[in-house]
Amino acid sequence: DAKALWRKDKDHFIHPFTDFSVFHDQGCDLITDSDGIYVEDAKGNRFIDGIAGLWCVNVGHGRAEIGQAMADQATRMAYFSTFNNLSNAPAAELAAKLAELAPEHLNHVFYSCGGSAANDATIRLVHYYFNRLGKPEKKRILSRNNAYHGTTYLAATLTGIASNNWDFDTLDHLVTHLSEANCYRRPEGMSETEYCDHLVAEFEETIERIGAENIAAFIAEPIMGAGGVLVAPRGYHARMQAVCRANNILFIADEVVTGFGRLGHFFASEAVFETRPDIINCAKGLSSGYAPLGATLISDEIYEVLGTPQRKGGVLSTGFTYSGHPVSCAAALKNIEIIEREGICKNVREVGPYLEEQLRTLSHHTTVGDVRGSHFMMCLENVADKATKELLPVEARVGDRIAFEAQKRGLIIRPVGHLNIVSPPLIWTRETVDRVVAILDEALTAATASLRE
Ligand code: PLP
Repeated sequence: DAKALWRKDKDHFIHPFTDFSVFHDQGCDLITDSDGIYVEDAKGNRFIDGIAGLWCVNVGHGRAEIGQAMADQATRMAYFSTFNNLSNAPAAELAAKLAELAPEHLNHVFYSCGGSAANDATIRLVHYYFNRLGKPEKKRILSRNNAYHGTTYLAATLTGIASNNWDFDTLDHLVTHLSEANCYRRPEGMSETEYCDHLVAEFEETIERIGAENIAAFIAEPIMGAGGVLVAPRGYHARMQAVCRANNILFIADEVVTGFGRLGHFFASEAVFETRPDIINCAKGLSSGYAPLGATLISDEIYEVLGTPQRKGGVLSTGFTYSGHPVSCAAALKNIEIIEREGICKNVREVGPYLEEQLRTLSHHTTVGDVRGSHFMMCLENVADKATKELLPVEARVGDRIAFEAQKRGLIIRPVGHLNIVSPPLIWTRETVDRVVAILDEALTAATASLRE
């Protein structure tokens, strides 16, 4: 029963990213069932899922056909190695499908087990690439403050959210962080264009200081997710890419969150941000979270160097037992089929602007300093004072309060410090948006009142 399970969980399951003081007081909520836009807990409470599990259940919950595709594959051939000349049908089919969906020049896929592993593996591939080109000194990766790229040691170093690394070492000889692109908190008096110039200039100065001959790549999320749904100033990504090109620095787009429809397209880099990354990483929405899977999409130009046996060495000595896992790839293939068949990207393009507009109506609440994001990737930033943008004290736990009040009213959103993130399954309709915004309106009123108590 639920109580016995709760006990087992509390005694034995170490939860990721968990504040144990809160966990030990409250225990966990066992999520037991799911259907479409809803999840249900062990007590029978039903919630609208406002976070798509964790930015990943893009096609919504309880898709029997994905379960069936996985079951069929698992009973036929659940696993076999993909090293060297061994392969399996779903991995090959999916690689070809990803090449078809991705920008034209990205035609080669390296599989991993999730987003962190994809980013980590990518840096190894990039180093291998420059080694084979006879430029082994090109090692350093430029990332950004407040970026989130994962939690394996190298991905955690790429991550620029300081608190994530307070209690850990980082691989600083490999990574340098630039400023994040944060329009809301940009320097006083700077226009958006000037701010973009400022960020590009910082990039150029950093290259000058470190030396382009020592820099392998720049990695960036098209819109920063966990760092606070930070939308860069217009033109930023394209300009950063131009600087990369001029300095023979690879441009890696981390589309772990933005990929597979969240911004209305399979990949946001080209369709939304007018960039042509050398590498795109994806995970999460790739399988809609039905199975763990990450993929690194690599350009023809890079592949020509990695995959040509005549070049020095010829052995790509990196990979995972589960690279190209057949059951995960079968889940991803069915997931992509659903996204295409149901026009889910189109739904995001239609409902997304409505979600943005309706969430903006919440700006009248005293704590809501900023409502930002794009399409199905949104965030409320809560502040103590809208004019100065000063934050509430950490102990006020404003994000938690609002999320708690929303959950009481049947909606799960994600608190991150003083932020509340809304990143739903991509099947929300306008009617869902209306229900969600009504709940958030009440939750904000209640949370604001509780702050005064
Ligand atoms: N990259 C981005 C942009 C992410 O948001 C995440 C996870 O939230 C990751 C990488 C890491 O993915 P995973 O948790 O699957 O390792």
